[in-house]
Amino acid sequence: MDEKWFDEMESRIPRGKVRTRFAPSPTGYMHVGGVRTALYTWLIARKAGGTFILRIEDTDQGRFVEGATEIIYSSLRDAGLTWDEGPDVGGPVGPYIQTQRKDLYLPYAKRLVERGAAYYCFCEKTDDGSDFGGHDDPCRELDAAEVQRRLDAGCPWVIRQKIPSGGSTSFTDEIFGEISAPNDDLDDQVLIKGDGLPTYNFANVIDDHLMGITHVVRGTEYLSSTPKYNLLYRAFGWDVPKYIHCSPVMRDAQHKLSKRNGDPTYDDLLAAGYLREAIINYVALLGWSPGGEREIYSLSELVEAFDLKGLSKSPAIFDLAKLSWLNSEYIRAMSPEAFHAAALPYIEAAAPGMDSRLIASLLHQRCEKLTDIAGQIDFLAGLGRYDDELFVNKKSKSDRESSVEMLSAAIPAVENIDPWNADSVHDTLIGLAEKLEVKNAKLLWPVRIALSGRAVTPGGAVEICCLLGKDESLRRMRAALERLKGNA
Ligand code: GLU
Repeated sequence: MDEKWFDEMESRIPRGKVRTRFAPSPTGYMHVGGVRTALYTWLIARKAGGTFILRIEDTDQGRFVEGATEIIYSSLRDAGLTWDEGPDVGGPVGPYIQTQRKDLYLPYAKRLVERGAAYYCFCEKTDDGSDFGGHDDPCRELDAAEVQRRLDAGCPWVIRQKIPSGGSTSFTDEIFGEISAPNDDLDDQVLIKGDGLPTYNFANVIDDHLMGITHVVRGTEYLSSTPKYNLLYRAFGWDVPKYIHCSPVMRDAQHKLSKRNGDPTYDDLLAAGYLREAIINYVALLGWSPGGEREIYSLSELVEAFDLKGLSKSPAIFDLAKLSWLNSEYIRAMSPEAFHAAALPYIEAAAPGMDSRLIASLLHQRCEKLTDIAGQIDFLAGLGRYDDELFVNKKSKSDRESSVEMLSAAIPAVENIDPWNADSVHDTLIGLAEKLEVKNAKLLWPVRIALSGRAVTPGGAVEICCLLGKDESLRRMRAALERLKGNA
């Protein structure tokens, strides 16, 4: 490529004050650490009124997964982390999928070869498959004529970075401060692979530069490679972005959170009944602290509160119990309308055809996550065999005998209810307790057990009657009475 091409590329670079990018590899799922990186990256851009870019890093074709980019798009959109430039929205410096940019990396690599910062390597892989990468690689010293001869002869090649021998290279990370590595510890990493595609290690530097990225947010697993990236920036004469390396999200003190070990991905958490707002709020707190006691933050409140100073060097432990607590706080704070809408699919699956609004109102304050719903209301759809001991209850002074007595009185009273609604059921049962001169609980306890087969239910006898309807309520009460009388 001639100088003009490089100048042209350079002239297209947007010069925003803050431009960040989330650069996932399409692995087929969005792990929690990925959501967190995306969130912090998005927050930095939004807070500064800057630009948030999505870039798909798919140059490792061996790891190609069908449909993986769609999962990235849908997870980010679902979480509210929308991008200003990216694969499907375009932007001035696209394309944003690295394999679609593949022709522009080689010219830059060749430029480094000309400048003595990279070299063609013709060595084959060692028997065990590992790369060379040591500074004793004989290809480092090949002269230009010999290189050309081998290229002309069609010898397979890769391009490697030529790390200077001796000395050290340092960079500053916004969280970890200054980090320095002896050059002799840095390998001559491959920049362009045998298939002509760039490695991540090369493409990230070229793209971050060409996309005008000002802040690079990524995991600490890249800390040790960053000196090599800095040597590349230096060889090109480019400005280095700000680095923010985030500590890993752990399952426990020893293990990183990982899908392969069965830890949940973003989609798994949604499917498990966690609300996106609660997940995002929780993920924000994994490695970042706003300072102070407050823990509930909406996405827009996070934009306000986010500050790089709150990021922690220590790994964060993913705590499902804490997420569950946050989730229940979010559920409680929802409007009845919003809760009904969120709960509806779960209610319809567990209690088809029943009054979903009534059920939602009964469940709203007693739900840690939406998937708890089925377990709380499955008795509505069908009642299995339950323990008759449930009729015994100290508080309401109920036992089997009193339950027989109460159900015997309740059944004819309930038979006569017409019209059938919450008021008429309520008035009938309360009126009956009065007539029998017993406390309400003494009557309502056995009725509720007969209707539900469980000690704890969302709603009481009246609400459950309303949900079941007259026929089914009576059928359950009669069945209970028969059994208690020993006839069943
Ligand atoms: N593609 C890399 C990853 O998924 C991105 C690292 C970076 O943000 O530079 O880990």
